[in-house]
Amino acid sequence: MSNDPGSPATVSDCLKFLKWIEARLLLAGRGDGVATSATDPAGRFWLGRLAPEVGSSGGADRIGRMEPCAIGIRLLPAENGPWTCRARVRFRAWIPDGSNWVKSSEVDEIIDLLIVGKFQQVFGADRLTNALKAVTGFDGFSAELRVEVTPGPRGAPELLIQIVNTSQVQAKRLKDSRLYEASLSIEGLAVNPFMLEALPDSFRYDRRVWAYGVNCGITSDEGRFTTTDTVGAQKLRPDYWGMGLPGLKFETLESNPFPELDSLVGALRSWGIEAWSVSSLDQRAAKHHWSTEMRAEAAEEARKFGVELDRIENGVAHLRRDANLAKAFRLMNRAMSRASRGRGYDSWRPFQVGFILANLACILEPTEESGIVDIVWFATGGGKTETYLGLLITAVLFDRMRGKSHGVTAWTRFPLRMLSLQQLQRFADAMAAAEMVRREEKIGGSTFASGFLVGDSATPNRILPTPRYDGDIDVENDDERSLARYKRLQKCPFCGAREIEMAFDRELWRLDHKCLNSKCPWPEAALPFHVVDEEIYRFLPTIVVGTLDKAAGIGMQGAMRGLAGPPLGMCKRTGHGFTYSPRSERPHGCFVPGCKQAAGPLPMAPELFGPSYRLQDELHLLRDSLGAVDAHYEALFDGLQAELCGYRPKILASSATLEGYETQVDVLYRRQGRVFPMQGPSTEEGFWTSASTEVMRHYVAIAPRGLTIEFVIDRMATEMQNAVRSLLTDPDRVCEEVGVDAAKAPSLLQLYGTQVIYGNTLRDLDAIQRSIQSGQIRPENGKRLNHEVLTGRTDFKDVAKILERLEKPESEFEDRVHLITASSMMSHGVDIDRLNVMVMAGLPLGSAEFIQATARVGRRYPGIVFVIHKIGRERDASIFRSFDKFVSQGDRFIEPIPITRKSRRVLERTIPGLELARILTIHEPRAGKSLYMVSALRALATSGAFDIGKEREAVMGYLGITAADDPKLAEDLERWFDRFEQNIIRPHPDIKSGSDAAGKPMISLRDVEEQVPVYLDRSS
Ligand SMILES: [Zn+2]
Ligand SMILES: [Zn+2]
Repeated sequence: MSNDPGSPATVSDCLKFLKWIEARLLLAGRGDGVATSATDPAGRFWLGRLAPEVGSSGGADRIGRMEPCAIGIRLLPAENGPWTCRARVRFRAWIPDGSNWVKSSEVDEIIDLLIVGKFQQVFGADRLTNALKAVTGFDGFSAELRVEVTPGPRGAPELLIQIVNTSQVQAKRLKDSRLYEASLSIEGLAVNPFMLEALPDSFRYDRRVWAYGVNCGITSDEGRFTTTDTVGAQKLRPDYWGMGLPGLKFETLESNPFPELDSLVGALRSWGIEAWSVSSLDQRAAKHHWSTEMRAEAAEEARKFGVELDRIENGVAHLRRDANLAKAFRLMNRAMSRASRGRGYDSWRPFQVGFILANLACILEPTEESGIVDIVWFATGGGKTETYLGLLITAVLFDRMRGKSHGVTAWTRFPLRMLSLQQLQRFADAMAAAEMVRREEKIGGSTFASGFLVGDSATPNRILPTPRYDGDIDVENDDERSLARYKRLQKCPFCGAREIEMAFDRELWRLDHKCLNSKCPWPEAALPFHVVDEEIYRFLPTIVVGTLDKAAGIGMQGAMRGLAGPPLGMCKRTGHGFTYSPRSERPHGCFVPGCKQAAGPLPMAPELFGPSYRLQDELHLLRDSLGAVDAHYEALFDGLQAELCGYRPKILASSATLEGYETQVDVLYRRQGRVFPMQGPSTEEGFWTSASTEVMRHYVAIAPRGLTIEFVIDRMATEMQNAVRSLLTDPDRVCEEVGVDAAKAPSLLQLYGTQVIYGNTLRDLDAIQRSIQSGQIRPENGKRLNHEVLTGRTDFKDVAKILERLEKPESEFEDRVHLITASSMMSHGVDIDRLNVMVMAGLPLGSAEFIQATARVGRRYPGIVFVIHKIGRERDASIFRSFDKFVSQGDRFIEPIPITRKSRRVLERTIPGLELARILTIHEPRAGKSLYMVSALRALATSGAFDIGKEREAVMGYLGITAADDPKLAEDLERWFDRFEQNIIRPHPDIKSGSDAAGKPMISLRDVEEQVPVYLDRSS
């Protein structure tokens, strides 16, 4: 490609291009426009075909769906029968011609139907059969229209009108009696809608479905219903300035926030009166025939809107009343302005400010607010991370002013191992900006730092004086390669330079990220950013970002107490950091190897060390066994913090789905849930966001017929590669076909040149991998296909490299990444504007994952997602039937979140960790010595300072288990603690340590996933 960048494609150019791609793939699947074929059409086309009917299989069962012999339309007639309507039937056939195949001309018949009674009727059999004979010259082809009347919903009659391929399966000389390019349309029938059962019966949703397709999609146009081979659906780009409000500039909110905030609140209030008033709801109720229940639900939602409005108004009032809070808020805006430089925005979206205002109360009145989990919910890509950061930076600045000079303010957890490096960078950038502001304003306390606490081998737990395991950093030998493996920042959070070097400071025993830019404003040698677990406990960075699985560490690592309460002291050697319980290798509790310094006192009141916030990203993923196990560890952290500091932290969360969050939050956190923002009174209108007219993502559902999903994916990927590459080889012709100026070709290639194939199972991903290796997916003209993989198995460092290549593509197309195969790992936090084409192999298990995964494309420019349904599966088949509703309202599709806190099997796995954590974080510091050995525990127990009965009560209190409500769980705990006591007082000779006595604690919260099935039976 020449280096001429051309001119940038507009949204309308992009949409035209996507339409062109979609049409091209549809043609490839159906064969329109192909007149002859050297290969068997049955092994080539996956759309539009109808197999000859075998036996009595009508087509709706599993086998019938895989290769149907019929397509049809289900309708609810508005009147009582008999009914008349008009059908139009079209199809073609393929005829063998020597070693070649030739396509017949089209059969196109209009047939009038008179439908009576409840029995099956057949129409047009002779006409269709004769027409087939005429276009093919062969006997053996035949087809008919088959109509059935059955009782539909609420007993009203339902019509099923199908075209059925009744051809002989093995006719003389006829190699293939399938019909191709088949379609059916019906007009002239007045119908009532079906009500979609998968959506809750709520006043907000339009649940009407005017017609269902059988083995196909349906479009309707002025009373005519037509079958389609694919089902299209669109998601419009949300308009975050829903009410036409201007953005709220960081700069303005820093200098003089009140005029803007007052007008925001005023606008919200008047909108609310308009949308939620009794008279407005009454009008809506009358217009849309709400039931009494729906009207009552609307009234309750109106009340909740009132609460939201109050909270936001109170937020402004708090700012007026509390000078420190106002200062923190203003300076936060300065920090956000700094952190956003070069990112293309300089203001907040109104809902972000709304969320921050609504939650300012929890900065001022943490205790009252800690009983509620506040959940941010909105379409992905809306700036969720920045919303958190706005609140957190206000909180950290306020903390410094109220005397919290050290320690962790927030621990942010992502549910998967693969917290993305992009997200991490955003946290680090924001904290760096806040630190610069803190210095400018001469606000006291320690440096704002961030820490990265993740499980597995993504970051080291500790750095040993001599390497013990493969891959350990060898500090003796300036081991640059292993050091570089732990580089987690892609650029300097202070100056944006990409020159970052890893170094190990032997003096302070610290693994440093260093910025090499000589003009960097950060004056210190190392960036305030920690990736080694032990460093996080030693320095307690202001914000800890990590993965949830790490929480289990508290059952093994006493220093994790720093994430729930105060450390024990501070080493007197500057730069060594906080100290914890002593061990033989650290006599005074300092983690720097060989440090013999005594520990000094803590630099601030111990109770201030408790984190103010725990954040949970992607809350909806905490389900099944992961959710059940986490619930126990959440309870543990809450309980420890309450004992050590006297309060529980506030919990903030984000979720992609709303269905069932109340129960989920209750189970996980023993708190009430509250969602922000409230949705408007219908899905189209809202104060904070409303749908724009701009297409964000176009979805195409495909149910392959007769060929395997693997084959279809191979063909589609190849076809797409060829399509985008033609922008390179033949830009003039392609742009003319697309209908855009040829100067747009480089820009379109840039935006659509990388495709994502999303697999839900490792098996799917492996199959795609094999196809690439064996050349099943291969661009024309022997060009190279650069392929990368983003799954949970991809090494962290490789992920960073791939993301970097995607963000900053090579100048030559041939060098770029062309194809990415990805698993759910990429559905969290991978924000790349260049990913705009996705093929999804089968539907993910939950609608949340569908929303999250497909949100990776079309972030800034229109994107397209081809969803290949595994149509043999019931769930895929059912979603295919109402695919457009699934896309537009998927966050409300009914899918209860299976989660329980009260599983005996889970308790059996978590209890050792829960009790060992209490020994490490409460009893050891209290005893002032190591309680590692069982003999030490015995001595303590004999002295009366360690009472097993009280331990059991404490754990029951954490978990909210009572003998009255949960007798079986209480019994299990009693048995466990009895055995534990036996093991301490009269231990078997093999029992040496406390953890021998308790049993192995969990190493990671994910351990449990493969091992413990969760049963939702509370009585178990
Ligand atoms: Zn720098
Ligand atoms: Zn020390």
